[in-house]
This record gives sequence, C-alpha cells and structure tokens, in this order.
Amino acid sequence: MRAHAIMYHDVVENGDFESSGFPGEGAHVYKLRREDFARHLDAIAAAGPAVGTIRDLKPSPVLLTFDDGGVSFHHPIADLLEQRGWRGHFFITTDRIGTAGFLSEAELRDLHRRGHVIGSHSRTHPTRMAALSRAELDGEWSESIARLSGLLSEPVKTASVPGGYYSRQVAEAAAAAGIAVLFTSEPTSRSAVVDGCVVLGRYVVQRGMEPGWSGGFAAGSPAQCWRQAALWKAKRVAKTLGGGGYLKLRQAILERKQ
Ligand SMILES: [Zn+2]
Repeated sequence: MRAHAIMYHDVVENGDFESSGFPGEGAHVYKLRREDFARHLDAIAAAGPAVGTIRDLKPSPVLLTFDDGGVSFHHPIADLLEQRGWRGHFFITTDRIGTAGFLSEAELRDLHRRGHVIGSHSRTHPTRMAALSRAELDGEWSESIARLSGLLSEPVKTASVPGGYYSRQVAEAAAAAGIAVLFTSEPTSRSAVVDGCVVLGRYVVQRGMEPGWSGGFAAGSPAQCWRQAALWKAKRVAKTLGGGGYLKLRQAILERKQ
C-alpha cells in the first residue's frame, strides 16, 4: 500500500499560536496561520490526486492528518476541509480533552459525526515515546483508544506516534491495543505491516514552508518528497553525531524554492 500522507498540527486565526494545541515555541513552529493553510489546501487541490481517508483507501490517495488535538481542528480546520469536500484525520492526546486550547468531548463527537476520522495521539504525549517500557506503551495506546471509542460509541482503530518517536515496539503495542493503521513522521509513501497493523509514513508541513510543499507532497513529487526524505536522513546523522550543523542544513533545505 502506498499513500501520500501529510502531517499538520494546529491552524490559528490572527497568528494567535497560543490559542490551540500545546504551548511554547517548540510546538508553535508546527502551527500555520489560517490564510496560509488555505493556500496549502489550494496547492493540494491543484496537484490533482484525490484527497481521501483511510476508510476509502484506493491506490495513492492523499491523506490529510492533524496531530495533538487542538481546538483549531474543529474551527477553522474542519470547516476549510469541508468547503473542498474533504475530510481529515484528527489525532487526539486524550488526557488533554476539554483542557485549555484542546477539543472538548462535544467537539470531538461533532467532528466524528461530520465524517472526519478520529484517532489516538497517545494518552499523555510522552516526550520520547520509543523510550517507554512495553507496559507504559500498552497503557498509552489502550487507555487513549478506550476513551475515544467510548466517547464516539465506535471502535477507534487509528493513531499517530507523538513526537515521531517510532520503534517497532511502539507499533507492536499499537497493534495489541487494536490499532489497525498507525501513522509515523517518517517522510515516505511506503507502508509496512507490524503484527497486522499498517504503518504509514507522513510528510510534515510546518510554519514557513511554501504551499508548494503541500502540493508536491500530494502529487508525490520528487522535488518535495525526496528533499524532505534527505532532510530526515541528515537529521538522524546530525543527532547521532551531536553536531550543530543540522539546524543550518535544515534552514538551507527549507529556504530553497520549489
Ligand atoms: Zn504531537
């Protein structure tokens, strides 16, 4: 199975990055302004391939995913998607439901009723998911899935890995918790299967990236997909070496025009 999954986080009005999702600059770099996000959606529409969900997975659909569970999923994100006839995948940090900046139970039910796919983004959003013990991983997945399934009166079977800290054990625990489709943050359109759970990569979009990135990811264009894959590999190497060159390299890659 191949899919072009794109990962977003919050989308805010008036540049108010505190208004939705996790606070702090580390989280804010992933948030987009509403007017910028609308241009990204226009670029996806212009790219051609149909936007779908995992419920209607056909060859190479474009999947739009949103992490953390911020209140902006309900407005403006869902509204902007629906204007184009699209639905999103919304991944929820379940311990945050109903807290400041995050979706309420009623808003989650409303998104589900409107045809969006609701999934888990773990219970507590651990800083380093892959460093948890198997018992802790089981708790993160099974407790968040149970909360969402109870809330929506329907089994919830999809999730995304918080912080992109993926390991095989993270997927094994997800499979054991009943998760059928698990999204990572690895920039790839290829999928793998772990204990019956389909593991799909995603291309990340963050603040400062031109709409052409979203359009390129949707089209599976080498200019964007390969470049982000190269960045991902460089990041791994830089982390391994502990070098400070990664930030400069990242900036250089992001600033290049399509
Ligand atoms: Zn997250």
